[in-house]
Amino acid sequence: MIRLAVIGDPIEHSLSPMVHGACLKELGIDYEYEKVRVKKGELLEFIDYAKKNGIDGFNLTMPHKTDIIEYLDEIDAEAELLGSVNTVKIVKNRLIGYNTDGDGYFMSISKSGGFKGKKIVILGAGGVVRTIALKGVKEGATEVAILNRTKKNAQAVADFVCAKTGEKILVGEMSEVFDGVKECDLLINATPLGMSGTKSDFDDLSFVENLPPKTIVSDLIYNPPKTSLLKKAEEMGHIVANGLGMLIYQGFLADKIYLGMDFDLDLMYEKTEKKIKSLLA
Ligand code: NAP
Repeated sequence: MIRLAVIGDPIEHSLSPMVHGACLKELGIDYEYEKVRVKKGELLEFIDYAKKNGIDGFNLTMPHKTDIIEYLDEIDAEAELLGSVNTVKIVKNRLIGYNTDGDGYFMSISKSGGFKGKKIVILGAGGVVRTIALKGVKEGATEVAILNRTKKNAQAVADFVCAKTGEKILVGEMSEVFDGVKECDLLINATPLGMSGTKSDFDDLSFVENLPPKTIVSDLIYNPPKTSLLKKAEEMGHIVANGLGMLIYQGFLADKIYLGMDFDLDLMYEKTEKKIKSLLA
C-alpha cells in the first residue's frame, strides 16, 4: 500500500486524487490518496503528520511550492532551478523535492510539436509561466515573448529566466497581443481568461486572426475543455490543445517518482484519458 496526499489552501477542488487514482489503479497499485488543507505557515505540522502516519509522498499546490524548500533534505536539479516544488517523496523520513510541472507541460505540448525552433508567445506571467518559459528556452525555442496585463510581472519572469539561463525573453503588455502574435508558432494562454467559474474572458479575440497559418494554440485551462480562445483558433484552422495534458502528465510523472518505477507515460495517458475526461464532464 502506498500512502499519498495533496496539500494546499484551498484544496477542495483539487483534481489530483482523480489523476493519480487513474494511474495507480491502472498499474494495480493499492493506494490511499488524501486531500489535506494546509494553510500558509502550517507546513511543519503537516510534515510531522506525514512522517508519523507513514505518508510516502505528497503533491503541493498554492501556497506551498516555494515555502517547502527550506524543509527538504534533498532537492532535484529541476526543482532547484525553478525554485518551486510540486512533488515530495518521503524516504526513511527524509524529504526529497521535485518539480514535474515543466516536464508535464513539455510532454503535453510535444504531441503538437514541442518547443524546438518555435517562436512562443505566452499570455500571462504567473507561477506557471516561469516554469514554461524556462522549459521553452531550455528545450530550444528560438524566441519567447511574455505579454501580461501587468508588464512588470512579465519583466520579473524574464529576469528570472535570464538569470538562470543567460537567455533574453521579450516582454510586453497584453494590449500588444495583436501585433505580438504575427510571427508566432506557439501561443500559450496562461491566464484564467475563459475559465469556468470566472466571469472574465478575452474582450476581443480578433488577435487570433493575426496568427500565421497552423499556429499551435495551447490553453492551460481544461475546464471548459474548449475555451473561447480555443474555439476561435480551431475555427481558423489552428491546432489547439487544452490544459488537460499538462494536468495528467505532471501527475503521472510524480507517480513515477513515488513508485520508483518506470512505465510508459504516453501509453498510460492513452489508457486513462477517457476515464479522466468522463470524470471531469
Ligand atoms: P497566477 O500565478 O495566479 O497568474 C495569473 C496570471 O494571469 C497573471 O499573469 C495575471 O496577470 C493574469 N491574469 C489574471 N486575471 C487576468 C485578467 N482578468 N486579465 C488579464 N490577465 C489576467 O496563475 P498560474 O499559477 O500562473 O496559472 C495560470 C493559469 O494556468 C490558470 O488558468 C491556471 O488554472 C492554469 N494552470 C493550469 C495547469 C494545468 O495543469 N493545466 C497548471 C497550472 C496552472 P497580472 O500579473 O497582471 O496579475
